[in-house]
Amino acid sequence: MNNNCVFCKIAAGEIPSFTIYEDEEFKVFLDISPATRGHMLVIPRTHCADIFEIDAGMCARLHKLTVAMAARIRGALNTDALNVLQNNGPLAGQTVRHYHVHLIPRYENDGADLIPAQTEVSGSALAELAEKLRRPLPGGHQ
Ligand code: 5GP
Ligand code: ZN
Repeated sequence: MNNNCVFCKIAAGEIPSFTIYEDEEFKVFLDISPATRGHMLVIPRTHCADIFEIDAGMCARLHKLTVAMAARIRGALNTDALNVLQNNGPLAGQTVRHYHVHLIPRYENDGADLIPAQTEVSGSALAELAEKLRRPLPGGHQ
């Protein structure tokens, strides 16, 4: 537990939240400032700041839970449109530095603006970039 972390406090029940689901490893609760009706967050109880810190196995289990929560949203809120969002680092819009996945149900004319703007890039620039990204990290798993 990180004593300065609001999501650790929510996980521990020290800060109240509208819990949707919880088990020994994860908690799902409603976002306090929802982008749309039903916007919820999935968090691990264990503190980790972001995708670079989270244990890969735990992350896989968390995303499995995310799939189950998506089905629950579809059943309860009668929409099959949904954005899954996961921000890492302040530059990417992460304001709470405890790994979390947003589930944001979408509705006709809901006003939420979550699709990133597109850019145009040349084929050669894409080829060069792909070459760079294909190289595995020394000593890494990938
Ligand atoms: P981020 O921008 O870090 O990806 O998302 C953080 C989210 O946490 C925001 O959507 C924000 O509304 C939500 N949030 C921040 N503090 C609290 C809180 O105390 N309780 C709840 N339920 N949500 C919070
Ligand atoms: Zn935390």
